[in-house]
Amino acid sequence: MRLTALFPQFRGLRLDCLRTEPTGLTLVAATTAKTARCPLCHHHGHRVHSRYQRRVTDLPCAGRAVALLIHARRFFCLTADCPRKTFRERLPALVAPSARRSNGLRAALEAIGFALGGEAGSRLASILGMPTSADTLLRLVCAAPPATIEPPQVLGIDDWAWKKATRYGTILCDLERHRVIDLLPNRSADTVAAWLRAHPSITLITRDRSDLYADGATRGAPDAVQVADRFHLLKNLGDRLSHNILGMGLLLRWQGNDRSCRCPISTIAFPSRKNDRHVLRRRHHLLANGTANGRWVSSG
Ligand SMILES: [Zn+2]
Repeated sequence: MRLTALFPQFRGLRLDCLRTEPTGLTLVAATTAKTARCPLCHHHGHRVHSRYQRRVTDLPCAGRAVALLIHARRFFCLTADCPRKTFRERLPALVAPSARRSNGLRAALEAIGFALGGEAGSRLASILGMPTSADTLLRLVCAAPPATIEPPQVLGIDDWAWKKATRYGTILCDLERHRVIDLLPNRSADTVAAWLRAHPSITLITRDRSDLYADGATRGAPDAVQVADRFHLLKNLGDRLSHNILGMGLLLRWQGNDRSCRCPISTIAFPSRKNDRHVLRRRHHLLANGTANGRWVSSG
């Protein structure tokens, strides 16, 4: 089996030996291409100027760190008007120019950094055989190219806390792709309206029921359909149901003569006689109308 069948990133390399060291595995390899392309004029050069060693850290193997010791070459550029007289051969499938980490390792560390951040990511990376510092992970995250974002059409708007109870901003989510696409610095209708004017692809906006975002959405995207989002509808419904069910449950416990509950409403007398028609009518009214508007409390 060819080495590149398992490791396609090693194309153009010949594996000479494998060394087992206390710190991990070291693969000694050499480049095999007969020519290399000048990075400036893109013409191929075949005359070797010199040789050098390059050390690249790669993805771990069976939990052990892997380093590549590559014997590479520097070539002459034979193009007369090219300002680059010599150049190093490159291995774009394996590693970026001048980088010390392979493309695969860099991508893995970036993913860990995005998922866990610096300190937690560093601990996990060490366990997985990719030891690195928290600062390095954060540098990789900051240097990662921004993801390509398709113009959003369905937008979710809500507030979020820069610092809870002190400072709030606005979070904007692409609800078709389930990702955050922007954070606005404040909770202002003007800011929301300006953002929407800059993104005319929005056709549907889901939001809470506050006037603030309704105003911003109406001014920024007058043609977009606005709907109340499911989260706020369900939250309001749940609050109201728990409010009423709590009162209903306590009233039923009263009816069962459970004395661990008390009713703070002195005007609603607990019936001392089962044939007290007035009190019974009052209790039936409470049961039919959600009971006491939440004024029942538990003493337990
Ligand atoms: Zn050149």
